[in-house]
Formats: sequence, C-alpha cells, structure tokens
Amino acid sequence: MRSMSQSLLLPGESPNLFAAECVAVTSFSVVVTAADFAARAHRGQTRKGRSRRPYIEHVLAVTSTLSMHGIDDPVTLAAALLHDTIEDCGLTRDGLAAVFGDRIADVVLEVSDDPRLSLHTRRLLQVHEAPGLSREARLVKLADKINNVREVAIDPGEGWDDARRRDYVTWSQQVVAAMPPTHAALERLFATECTATLTVIGARERAGAPG
Ligand code: ZN
Repeated sequence: MRSMSQSLLLPGESPNLFAAECVAVTSFSVVVTAADFAARAHRGQTRKGRSRRPYIEHVLAVTSTLSMHGIDDPVTLAAALLHDTIEDCGLTRDGLAAVFGDRIADVVLEVSDDPRLSLHTRRLLQVHEAPGLSREARLVKLADKINNVREVAIDPGEGWDDARRRDYVTWSQQVVAAMPPTHAALERLFATECTATLTVIGARERAGAPG
C-alpha cells in the first residue's frame, strides 16, 4: 500500500488543496485520486469537436468503457484516467510515478505519443509498438480508440473532412489489429464502432455533405 503526500499538487497549485500528511491509500482511492488529478490536469481543455466538450468527459468515458466491461484492476483504471496527462498536459512519467507509483506511470507512458514527432510518425509508431504493449496499456488503448472512433461519427474534430475521418478509423483499425488478442468483448465493440462510424461517413459522402 502506497502513501501519498503533497506531491499530488500540480504545478502552480496551492499546497492547501490537499492535506500534507500522508494517508493510507486503497485500490479504490488510487482510482478516485486519479480522477481528481486528471480533472485538474485537464482543466480548461476541450475536445477538438464543434461541441467543445470538456476534455475530462473523454477521460471518464474511456475509463467507464473499461469498467463496464468488467475491468476492475486499479492500475488499468487509474492509467485510463491519466492516459492523456503526459501527452496533453505536459506531465512526465516520473512526475506521475511520484504520485501513483511506477506501474501506473509506465502504462500511461506506453499509451502516450511523443508530441515532438509529426502526426505521420506518431501514427506509424503506434502501429509498430502495438505488438509489444503490456496488457494494461492494450486495454487503455482499446477503450481510447473505441471512444475516439465513436466521436469521429458524432463530434469529429473541427474542419475534419470525410477523408480525414475515414483515415482516422482505418489507422485505428491498423493499431488494434497489430495488438495481440486482449479482450474479446472490447474488440467486438471496437469493430462495431468502426463499422458504425464508416457507415456514417459513407452516408455523408453519398449525400455530398460539407465538412
Ligand atoms: Zn484519449
């Protein structure tokens, strides 16, 4: 059982947000603390779609997808809550490890792209690295892709035309296909979401819908 201290603070936050004394941490409290940490890390961030939904909704949806499919391992659930904090919030693997431990931090690092690389290179790397991901990272990645592909149908990035939407789904399928079998129900859900989103894109293309 780990203990936590004021290392829960994000840069620029006042130390009185958390009690400085160490507290005993259960599996459940690690997950809840990760949700709290993610909410503060993503504060002010929104998704790319026209609805400008708060970013934390995506993080919670990814975690909820895992939880609803029977995943109750606190490392996987906490990593799901934190999965975009290195890539999108400027946090480091070691910074996360200081709060949540090495295992959770390593899983978050596994599912993080290096933002210094081009989009093309990041996409190639995801396919290339998929076979070697840990099971926890594969679960987070599956749930992330399920929610991202779903979002491409209902609230895609602003300015995304149909070709870019289709390209995102096709690339996501390549990443998932490159992973070893991980969770049959999540893999079926991913395939269903891809089919549904491609159907929406196809209908838009036939109707000549604007981006
Ligand atoms: Zn994500």
